[in-house]
Amino acid sequence: MTLPVPRDAVAALPSYVPGARGGGGPQPIKLSSNENPYPPLASVREAIAGAAASVNRYPDMFSRALTEALAARYGLPEGAVVTGAGSVSVLGHALQAFTEPSDQVIYAWRSFEAYPILTRLTGAETVEVPLADGGRHDLAAMVGAMTERTKVVLLCSPNNPTGPAIREEEFEAFMQGVPPTVLVILDEAYVEFVRDPLAVDGRNALTRHSNLLVARTFSKAYGLAGLRVGFALGDPEVVSAIRPCVTPFSLSGIAQVAALASLEAEGELFERVDAIVAERERILTALRTQGWNPPEAQGNFFWLEARDEASALASHLGAAAPPILVRPFGGEGVRINAGSPEENDRLIAALEAYPHRF
Ligand SMILES: *Cc1c(COP(=O)(O)O)cnc(C)c1O
Repeated sequence: MTLPVPRDAVAALPSYVPGARGGGGPQPIKLSSNENPYPPLASVREAIAGAAASVNRYPDMFSRALTEALAARYGLPEGAVVTGAGSVSVLGHALQAFTEPSDQVIYAWRSFEAYPILTRLTGAETVEVPLADGGRHDLAAMVGAMTERTKVVLLCSPNNPTGPAIREEEFEAFMQGVPPTVLVILDEAYVEFVRDPLAVDGRNALTRHSNLLVARTFSKAYGLAGLRVGFALGDPEVVSAIRPCVTPFSLSGIAQVAALASLEAEGELFERVDAIVAERERILTALRTQGWNPPEAQGNFFWLEARDEASALASHLGAAAPPILVRPFGGEGVRINAGSPEENDRLIAALEAYPHRF
């Protein structure tokens, strides 16, 4: 039987590996997807329930109320904001808007696993620049990797999965080496968890660079991963090129309303972020006392560079009772996010029982 043949780029895509979810048996401790351990606030649940009454209607295609609220929140014109069904979608739309198959897209590696997939779907060539020591972006090497074919550079701060944030000073030095015709996308999915005072803040950097696009999400700090809301901030001309690429009506009305309610409850949500950050620091301190050597962690997760033992370490944690689910990257390391205090206690105990240290 002869069937239509998909594009070569599609056949060659690496697959996105979601964090393990666990099967039957005891309720696992899920620390594999960098999710927020807190359930939605009552005010957010009420907004979601209220919006359920009108799902027979299409949502506002332009997410006007949310766009307006985000513009006000970040002190930008509405034209500087574009929303989408998760920041992964927004990143994909930005790549679609700016890259041709003859272009190159540079990003650090290991970094967020969506980058090679989204880039190759556009047909553009991926250029992966190895991370420096400590899981940090090697920004000088990234400038060095640029050619006249480079169209987009993706930066991830804090870097998923290794943890460090990019510092403002190194970011500004990097931008000096980037021509204004190259789009720099700063993916700040975890920016609300950053406590390094020297870290770059994408919103502030926007005032200095019109070729910068900042991607943010409601999935992590705001705890809406299951509803899919992300957005990007940038120069209105850059943003206006991305808007037509957004799949019409992909950001549901329920998601729009939940994001709005979350912005209104930001104070309460950011207290939770503070608690997650405190837990992150408590875990890291405990692990360092046990002899582990995790790199600096500025997100809601940390990295253990277990290399050849990545799978063994994940299996060890998966064999705990209840099982602890983490995200191994074979041959490289294991990414683990901070959970509730009780979950983190179990994690610390299970890691103490592992025979080796990384
Ligand atoms: C979680 C994450 C996102 C956000 O994804 P959503 O599509 O908004 O859920 C984006 N970038 C990185 C690096 C992430 O880890």
